[in-house]
Amino acid sequence: MEKKCLKGMSREELNVWCSEISESVFRGTQLYEWMYRHGILSFDKMSNMSNQFREYLKKYCFIKTLCVEKILPSKIDTSSKILFRTLDNQLIETVSMVDKSRHTVCISSQVGCALDCSFCETGRMGLKRNLSTGEMVDQLIFVRGHEKQSITNVVFMGMGEPFHNYRNVINAANIFHSSRGFNLAASRITISTAGILPRIQQFIKEKQKYKLAISLNATNDTSRTLIMPVNKKWSLDSLISAGREYSNLKKRQVMFEYVLMKGINDSTDDAHKLSHLLQGIPCKLNIIPYNETNGIFQRPDKETISRFSNILHKNRNEYRVLIRWSKGQDINAGCGQLVWMQE
Ligand code: SF4
Repeated sequence: MEKKCLKGMSREELNVWCSEISESVFRGTQLYEWMYRHGILSFDKMSNMSNQFREYLKKYCFIKTLCVEKILPSKIDTSSKILFRTLDNQLIETVSMVDKSRHTVCISSQVGCALDCSFCETGRMGLKRNLSTGEMVDQLIFVRGHEKQSITNVVFMGMGEPFHNYRNVINAANIFHSSRGFNLAASRITISTAGILPRIQQFIKEKQKYKLAISLNATNDTSRTLIMPVNKKWSLDSLISAGREYSNLKKRQVMFEYVLMKGINDSTDDAHKLSHLLQGIPCKLNIIPYNETNGIFQRPDKETISRFSNILHKNRNEYRVLIRWSKGQDINAGCGQLVWMQE
């Protein structure tokens, strides 16, 4: 009989499952807390369970979905990259970034990615499969146990397009947010998308409380389609409108991301157009200087980067502008650099 994976199940699902196997319903909540609040990876350590139930769990269930293959600490900053192996031998990466009192963990949501953005190493892998909720949760459990500093923020910006794995990502975010799980505020959990419009609309309709980030990277459809083929399906305008709709919901503010690439999207004209596109939208704009990886694209020089951001600063209306320098440059842990490492 195949063992059942409990990791990733919600409290309700665990409660129902416990009653189905004729256990008390409250055992489900206990399992939930052991797995997520305490990060226990062995049934033997679940001290408030009866011996009989623990033996049952050991025989028929499992709760560990990932093995750590390698930990790469950066030599130039306080980030590190963790390479995990899944039970079916796939490799995924997670990035942990500590910055003063902030500890952000960048989670992968898929093995590879189908979207093939031309500036992204993960895109080159193609899509192998979606990650389960449990595999996303286990990334965070490992980092929490490994780093001294408490986790303050989670971003779904690692390998994969989170909105191509919508339900599992939302379920993982719910566990991160739950007070019986990781107890992170919803405003500290960000889900980023390259622009899967129907899922953005679903996210808005369901009034999900997590933060939404949309990756723009261009100021017109022709150039966006060249670097992000997904734009053929859903245009820049439709994404900006969806971002505006999200920001109009109470207490939410969309984050737009713009990876700045030399000679591709870094002209003064682009800066003016971008500022025009964002006028009147309460949002945050992250300008991310490109992390060079494949030799095709380059990072603009410092003057170009500051000229670009100054134009946006000067013209800003309701939006805020931030230049986000990726951490872990020496270990290829920056935006768009995650790819499974071949020996
Ligand atoms: S940038 Fe994001 S959506 Fe695009 S290929 Fe890379 S992982 Fe996929």
